Amino acid sequence: MWDIAVVGAGPSGSTAAYLLAKMGFKTLLLDMKNFPRSKPCGGGITLKAGKLLLKLNLPLEPVEAYHKEVIVRGYGREVVVSTSSNEYAIAVVRRDQFDKRLLDEAISNGVTFRVSKVYGIKKRGESLRLLGANEEARYVIGADGANSIIAISSGIRGPWDKRDLIIGVEGTAPYYEKLTFMVDAAPYGYGWIFPRANDSNAGVGGMVEKSSEILSSFRSFSLKYHVKMDGSWIIPAGGHEKPIARDRILLVGDAAGLADPLTGEGLYYAIRSSLEAAKSLESEEPSEEYLKRMTPIIEELRAKRRAAKIIIPRIRFFFDLFTSYPEIARRYMLTSIGKVEFKDFWRWSVKKIPRALVKSKLGI
Ligand SMILES: Cc1cc2nc3c(=O)[nH]c(=O)nc-3n(C[C@H](O)[C@H](O)[C@H](O)COP(=O)(O)OP(=O)(O)OC[C@H]3O[C@@H](n4cnc5c(N)ncnc54)[C@H](O)[C@@H]3O)c2cc1C
Repeated sequence: MWDIAVVGAGPSGSTAAYLLAKMGFKTLLLDMKNFPRSKPCGGGITLKAGKLLLKLNLPLEPVEAYHKEVIVRGYGREVVVSTSSNEYAIAVVRRDQFDKRLLDEAISNGVTFRVSKVYGIKKRGESLRLLGANEEARYVIGADGANSIIAISSGIRGPWDKRDLIIGVEGTAPYYEKLTFMVDAAPYGYGWIFPRANDSNAGVGGMVEKSSEILSSFRSFSLKYHVKMDGSWIIPAGGHEKPIARDRILLVGDAAGLADPLTGEGLYYAIRSSLEAAKSLESEEPSEEYLKRMTPIIEELRAKRRAAKIIIPRIRFFFDLFTSYPEIARRYMLTSIGKVEFKDFWRWSVKKIPRALVKSKLGI
């Protein structure tokens, strides 16, 4: 029997397995696909995610491009924000290569990797049995992505509600120089261009409950920016309202629904939750410990969800504020890359909005 079986070898699963093997646990990592495998994703790694990888001695590799400057454009206006230091705001990777590097790192630190699809999980005394893989472990980490079998078959949570989900459609575009977000590219969402070394990843995303037109938004976007579609997938962002652990089973990353409800950023939260899950397994009560460790992150995601409910339906109004008062945009970027806490940004901007409103009305 394994000490721990991690199901799913994306960034969350490989990070958790790597840390657990280093902590001395006999760790099995399972994925239904062999690597490298593709995963619909912009491949944007924020500075806070990159710094966390560095802290864990995990490779942020191979990076196609580092971007210090971010352009936000829409409704005929634009704002340019930049890190004032030498640090990047967003590094861009190709997910097939990045995920393979993390998996290789886990394997070279003692993790056993097997390709096998898991169909369910069953308790049998002190062990947890993984159906389909024919393996048993004392603890299981569900890192099996947005449609997690581990989450559903263990009964930790039911399937996602539409309101918990963001959908993204992405593809390959020619090389563009600047990393750009387009706030008018999709209703209740946005478009992005993430330049890599010789081409760009580009796409549109939006809230599932409001995004019946996401494919037509992608069509117009792709005609404008010459994007060839590669794939689409959901991003669960409602995990902060649902259970994420029970008994000896912990959910991490997309399986736990931990993406940022405002931006859809999932990689930082995938790595962070895996770190907290791995540390929790040192305790006598891992699921209680995991919930305790995750509380500040869950609270941050809850606050972002509340902000998203206000901002996303009124994006034009808020973007006008951003452009008339670029300090709001700059501070928001600092929040996204982990330099300012979201609650401090929100408090600060609520105070600034009346002045920004006057400026935007007067056009000054
Ligand atoms: C279009 C799009 C663009 C995005 N862009 C960004 C971005 O630029 N930056 C960012 O931070 N986030 C982005 N995200 C979100 C990000 O991709 C996810 O949050 C991230 O991949 C979550 O990592 P994970 O390891 O939890 O899950 P995943 O990367 O989905 O990995 C899950 C793994 O589990 C395996 N698996 C699934 N089911 C089973 C099973 N039954 N048995 C065995 N194995 C199984 C899968 O094969 C997969 O390898 C984007 C998402 C989408 C859809």
